[in-house]
Amino acid sequence: MDLFEYQAKKLFAEHGVPVPTGKVATTPQQAREIATELGGKVVVKAQVKTGGRGKAGGVKVADGPEDAYEKASAILGMDIKGHTVHSVLVEEASDIAEEYYASFLLDRANRTFLAMASREGGMEIEEVAATNPAALARIHIDPLTGVDAAKAREIAVAAKLPDAALDGASTLLAKLWKVFVKSDATLVEVNPLILTGDGRVVALDGKVTLDENADFRHPENADLVDVAAVDPLEQKAKEKGLNYVKLEGQVGIIGNGAGLVMSTLDVVTYAGEEFGGQKPANFLDIGGGASAEVMANGLSIILGDPSVKSVFVNIFGGITACDAVANGIIQALDIVGNVTTPLVVRLDGNNAEEGRRILKEANLSVVKPVDTMDGAAKLAAELAAAAA
Ligand code: GDP
Ligand code: MN
Repeated sequence: MDLFEYQAKKLFAEHGVPVPTGKVATTPQQAREIATELGGKVVVKAQVKTGGRGKAGGVKVADGPEDAYEKASAILGMDIKGHTVHSVLVEEASDIAEEYYASFLLDRANRTFLAMASREGGMEIEEVAATNPAALARIHIDPLTGVDAAKAREIAVAAKLPDAALDGASTLLAKLWKVFVKSDATLVEVNPLILTGDGRVVALDGKVTLDENADFRHPENADLVDVAAVDPLEQKAKEKGLNYVKLEGQVGIIGNGAGLVMSTLDVVTYAGEEFGGQKPANFLDIGGGASAEVMANGLSIILGDPSVKSVFVNIFGGITACDAVANGIIQALDIVGNVTTPLVVRLDGNNAEEGRRILKEANLSVVKPVDTMDGAAKLAAELAAAAA
């Protein structure tokens, strides 16, 4: 989960990382009030989960409350790279002497953590990496020892930060590492990290990506979710404990095991090309159990998506055998009720024969058993195309 800048800065502040004082506003009036409270010059910043807000005109300095009102009016409602601005962060304006870059991230390729830092900040770091790679220091971090004072200084020195910024940056980096670890982030990025006119080092921007797999350790993360942006079907699936991701296509997918479901997406996409480009409508892994209840929950979520014209149930029987799954499907259809969308079912693996026999005997008009995965994908795509 990506955080808004104001959420990232709140996390930073909780761990002692210096950030400018500020508050969030959703109306120009609120922006004016916050500017009055802060006094002096303020900066009004669009809160959208994308970079390049400055270039897009989403970051503006205002010289007082009235100007903050004007700037907020201009920025609220703005579209930045497809993101509508619903709120602005109003914070005390900073006196920027220099702009640097710093981040910690999970380096999957090297199976470790990585610090990146540069004297050249403010601009997009991809640009620095491409045009002046020597200016971007990359330092691996041992997860066991982390970033202590010495390691933080090593990073700051490798980034070629000037002497005036070394102490402040090192202190900040050690605290930023605490943010990274304590919040179970996969990324914390500060761009720009600034040196102020009076010699302080401050995080002027903040980007944080949290690892949702660690949500169980962070009940407080529930408050960080941007409810307005969550897909309602994904939300419902989450409440039911299902692993569901909404996609753009017409063929609903249910499978057991993430690997099987992913390959089902590929097979359906491929088969769909023959039928005017039918595509998977979702990812849904119902896991090992495949009980009637889980099947019913999955089906009702998939059928709740109006773009779904057919469903492909792809099950490889393991510990839960295919006969149990077949009975589960029949009961699930009964639980959901009034299902008219065709259900192409492919059962293979443990007790597949028995499962297929049960489905055949049930003789349900919406259920279309097919023995092979390719054949089932083709029929599901064909039925979706015919219903369109
Ligand atoms: P981004 O463009 O989405 O990455 O947004 P940033 O938060 O990084 O802001 C973009 C740029 O706006 C920064 O690099 C600064 O140059 C400028 N900026 C942001 N806050 C202030 C401020 O308080 N004072 C001044 N003078 N400039 C600021
Ligand atoms: Mn930035």
